[in-house]
Amino acid sequence: MTVRCLGGCGGQVERSGYLLSKDGSTILLDYGAQLSKPPVFPLHVAPRQLDGFVVSHAHLDHTGGAPYLYISGRMPVYSQEVTMKQVDLLVRDFLKLSGPRLPYEFLELHTLLQHSKHLGYHEKTQMGKGVFSVELYNSGHIPGGASLMVETGKERLLYTSDINTYETRLMSPAETTYGELDAIICESTYAGRFHPDRKATEGRFLERVSEMVQGGGTVLIPTFAIGRSQEILLILHQGGYENDLYMDGMALAATRLFIEHSDVLKEPPALERAMESVTEVYRWKDRKKVVDKPGVIIAPAGMLGGGTAIFYMSRIYKNPKNAIFIVGFRAPGTPGKALVEEKRAYIRGVETRVEAEVESFKFSSHADQKGFEGIFKGLEGDPLVILVHGEESRVQQQVKFVTQEIGLKACAPGLGDEIEIGGNGPLQGR
Ligand SMILES: [Zn+2]
Ligand SMILES: [Zn+2]
Repeated sequence: MTVRCLGGCGGQVERSGYLLSKDGSTILLDYGAQLSKPPVFPLHVAPRQLDGFVVSHAHLDHTGGAPYLYISGRMPVYSQEVTMKQVDLLVRDFLKLSGPRLPYEFLELHTLLQHSKHLGYHEKTQMGKGVFSVELYNSGHIPGGASLMVETGKERLLYTSDINTYETRLMSPAETTYGELDAIICESTYAGRFHPDRKATEGRFLERVSEMVQGGGTVLIPTFAIGRSQEILLILHQGGYENDLYMDGMALAATRLFIEHSDVLKEPPALERAMESVTEVYRWKDRKKVVDKPGVIIAPAGMLGGGTAIFYMSRIYKNPKNAIFIVGFRAPGTPGKALVEEKRAYIRGVETRVEAEVESFKFSSHADQKGFEGIFKGLEGDPLVILVHGEESRVQQQVKFVTQEIGLKACAPGLGDEIEIGGNGPLQGR
């Protein structure tokens, strides 16, 4: 089996895409986007050559290029049912925000969804004229998220995709017992880093929320609609915070979707129960009302680059009684990062000092180095470890760790590199 790295490698975290070929059959794992202006996609692949396509999870860095393949492609696309429904939400939003810069339109999203085939965890399916079989393992990352096991008659390859080895309120930890492997493609987002203790972070977060609300303040929690919004809701609800809790925008649509597909959650009824304590906000009239009352508002977008969070911020930033709590990853160059590091924000186009309290809490949905070490130590067989989805220095550090500390072969492929699996051959040219 040959793996060709189309993206998410060579120091890139975004635009994942891996092409697998064997005996004249070709399948594709993920086809994401890099959310830059303009967006960038994985290396080109001729859709008509593809026998099948698998989507590991809905995040745009793994799916943002998928509709592009359906301008001419008509291959089946396999994923969890709830994943494709999230893709629908996210890509629609992507088209709304970046439409003119995207090489596809609603029609191609529609064609992609039409070719969707649902696959539950541990339901094997044959692909590529029977050459490949694919099975989804829970990756613990977001609802529906999967690590992909790909088998041929000879080789077994596991693609972790984005993986979280820790239990969260929303998700069970990733399944990481894979049996004997010939290769593993492993993400490296937080390679070499260690997350703070989750319980302690939750405790501090709950304490600070109560403090601010009791002081008469509004707490804005700008979050990603998918996964993190629901995790924050569960932390608040299960931590005993129930009053004056508002949720807005795509976070509501995503929560409804997860309640409908609650079998992919750790504790199916928990989210529905938590949702009972939430006031849903849809209209501008209501937004203007709730923002002036003490309480907690959960609203996208996470990095404050768009969404209704911008409106809420513009109404609360002046008053030190209020707070903005950042609970997700802040990419360099985003308003979220400037806010946390400099307490500055653009309010209606003008750079302004934020007087509301600003604090950041780390609730990651990725493994850290301790999690990766656990995965590597549990590997069976003598697999080649292919390290991707991380900054160059982190990936290189991880190559060293795997070869020196774990004693397995490891590599960090560049963009376009091909790797022969099974023969464990050397990396081939671009
Ligand atoms: Zn992800
Ligand atoms: Zn990712």
